[in-house]
Amino acid sequence: MTNTPALEDVLARIDRAAQAAGRDPSTVQLVAVSKTQAWEQVEPVLRAGQRVFGENRVQEAMTRWSDHREGIELHLIGPLQTNKVKEAVAFFDVIETLDREKLARSLAEEIVRSGKSPRLYVQVNTGEEPQKAGVLPGEADAFIALCRGELKLQIEGLMAIPPADQPAGPHFALLRKIAARNGLERLSMGMSGDFETAIRFGATSVRVGSALFGARPAPQA
Ligand SMILES: *Cc1c(COP(=O)(O)O)cnc(C)c1O
Repeated sequence: MTNTPALEDVLARIDRAAQAAGRDPSTVQLVAVSKTQAWEQVEPVLRAGQRVFGENRVQEAMTRWSDHREGIELHLIGPLQTNKVKEAVAFFDVIETLDREKLARSLAEEIVRSGKSPRLYVQVNTGEEPQKAGVLPGEADAFIALCRGELKLQIEGLMAIPPADQPAGPHFALLRKIAARNGLERLSMGMSGDFETAIRFGATSVRVGSALFGARPAPQA
């Protein structure tokens, strides 16, 4: 087994944060964000037993994972264009970035057509940032209702990326509140800089990239 101190460290920190919050550590899933990383960075983490990975681009994910797909749970954590829905439904286990009606309709059609149903998270733009994807907090209830009702989509949980320049806690609390009033128990929130805080606020999965793999090589557009 390869020595992967970064993975051990992140898993230990998840454990400690869960215990400090009075939570069972096994209720917090680590999504290892491998986007843009060289395979040499990803492979040791895979060999050490990590099986859940996050990618932000459909094509890049297919290139990186097609030969290693078996036994892996892949999460799409980046924006999904409707012209990539077919590939995304075929390739990903979880799509965390359901963020608009057009995409919801397209996913609903493809799920019926293909008979394949990735688990779905609705992304909420808790900071109401114009440049960021996600439904606005005030529109989340209606959007979730549309997805579940007319479109017959099963929604597993909510996902958010808090504003980079604000304390994340209030955003995590808001996401949890929206989830609770919609009867959703799964919360994808927390990244390298704030996953312990997210666990304190109830995260059931944390998306950790740079703390596991080091700084990403290429800047992402
Ligand atoms: C890149 C990315 C992450 C991981 O970020 P790190 O700060 O490197 O842990 C998590 N979530 C989303 C949506 C991302 O795009």
